[in-house]
Amino acid sequence: MNAPDPIPVTGPDLDLMRDALGSSTLSHGLRRLGDRWTVQILMGAFMGVRRFDDFQTRLGIPRHTLSQRLKALVAMDMLRLHPYQTHPPRNEYRLAPRGLAMYDAVLMVWDWEHRFGEGDFPLPRRLIHKSCGHAFLPKLSCDACGEEVTMGDLAIRLRPNPRLPAEAAADTRTPRVPIEGATLSLGLRLDRWALMIVIAVTLGCRHFDQLSHVLGIGPSVLSRRLQGLVEAGLLKVTPDRDDQRRRVYLLTPASRALFGYLTTFATWASETLFNEPSSIAPIHRACGKPFTARASCSHCHARLFPQDVTFEMEA
Ligand SMILES: [Zn+2]
Ligand SMILES: [Zn+2]
Repeated sequence: MNAPDPIPVTGPDLDLMRDALGSSTLSHGLRRLGDRWTVQILMGAFMGVRRFDDFQTRLGIPRHTLSQRLKALVAMDMLRLHPYQTHPPRNEYRLAPRGLAMYDAVLMVWDWEHRFGEGDFPLPRRLIHKSCGHAFLPKLSCDACGEEVTMGDLAIRLRPNPRLPAEAAADTRTPRVPIEGATLSLGLRLDRWALMIVIAVTLGCRHFDQLSHVLGIGPSVLSRRLQGLVEAGLLKVTPDRDDQRRRVYLLTPASRALFGYLTTFATWASETLFNEPSSIAPIHRACGKPFTARASCSHCHARLFPQDVTFEMEA
């Protein structure tokens, strides 16, 4: 049922992969935004949530956590404060251009959550593209030629970026906001660690020691992480065909489907957050151009912008 994963590097060059992953806009972007609460707040903002109490009741985020994440998003100029009441003064949170530019990635998360999520927060039930008048699903497409793209359509090149300091992906220096109780819970399926492991497997790392080297994660933490991903259905583990003593980690339909999110997020981080090319540099084989990820309408194939889309909420 599953298409074979592409093996973009022949016999993975682990040092190259480590340097490329460490200096990728994906890794650096996830470090800033990879916490699930932050992503949920942004998704809420795209669904029209603006006020603190509405974020809290609709997303079920603890007040203190919500307050920290909102502050961080304002500091990053993803959200901006707009006064809506003067006595007493109250502000609401609206998406700034930098936040709005994340729309492709947000659509990809919605789509993924619909198919594989645990249904633990409200999502649009149906998306309608006003430009063409049809309900649609967001599709991953190539900005250069506009064609729909899957993982197998890309040839991935790795070019470490010396301008983004090559920090180890597993670097656990203090995040910008303290994340209490939200870092290592295995229930959080889309946190930064999970996504970095998924991208390493996507790039061709199959074995425990390869993942440990490329991500700079020590054996006991990596072992816990991998077990959590297997339990969450994001990886499967099987004995190596060539060496029964070893085990290989493979993508599942759920983790393969994260490709749209990972590539649109990396594109957003490159274009909007860092103004730097990604060290993970795919080429779209069919058109021969460097691949820039966009979300497009499954009906008319046009690129999707927030102002062109309406949605119906789940009951
Ligand atoms: Zn193309
Ligand atoms: Zn359309």
